[in-house]
Amino acid sequence: MAVKSRSVPKRSAGAKTAPAKRRAAPRPDYTSPERLQKIFAALDQLFPRAQCALRHSNPFELLVATILSAQCTDERVNKVTPGLFAKYPTPQDFAALEPEVLEKEIRSTGFFRSKARNLIGAAKKIVTEFGGRVPRTMEELLTLPGVARKTANVVLGTAYGIATGIVVDTHVFRIATRRLKLSRATTPEKVEQDLMRIVPRDRWISFSHQLIWFGRTICTARRPRCGECPLEPICDSADKTV
Ligand code: SF4
Repeated sequence: MAVKSRSVPKRSAGAKTAPAKRRAAPRPDYTSPERLQKIFAALDQLFPRAQCALRHSNPFELLVATILSAQCTDERVNKVTPGLFAKYPTPQDFAALEPEVLEKEIRSTGFFRSKARNLIGAAKKIVTEFGGRVPRTMEELLTLPGVARKTANVVLGTAYGIATGIVVDTHVFRIATRRLKLSRATTPEKVEQDLMRIVPRDRWISFSHQLIWFGRTICTARRPRCGECPLEPICDSADKTV
């Protein structure tokens, strides 16, 4: 049987060829050891002794201050806590408070009703279940009302020097994702897991404090000061101002 040859459609003289598909450029390795070392070195130079900005003199005060700092600036919290701790210095004092009394004291920090409820509930649990001491493990801290991983990491790292995780607040989240691209995650919990994989454990506590200060002073949310940033040569952020 004769096989018909397929006719090749003729291209008219003016027809354009379809543009060849461009391959997307490979994503740079934002978490390479070399790049991470540059980031750590710059942060060490900028903030060699970065500390938690919340004023406190014991783990319970830090717990209270951290719960109050949700959706509020540390400066505002630091204005409220000295008077509060002078009046109610112990977990027992907080546990005995009426919510309305505490609400008045902390009103200026915002969300004061839920914060008062959580503070009193946490204090009661600390008194009844933990012998009046703020617990020293993530699992136990997470049982306290108003305490999620961020607050627990602050207390464990700053008050007890225990590196259980990395504090991911609004500054750390912004810098780790959109700015330095250390994580592509979209939730603080997943960003923390990504950072814990690439940051050495002995840096977990200081790294959080350093990124928070970096976010407050240089890599600010609104208009980052890229002209003053030592990480500018290795930063690909679309938010850059230079
Ligand atoms: S160059 Fe700008 S955007 Fe990038 S890390 Fe520095 S301050 Fe932030």
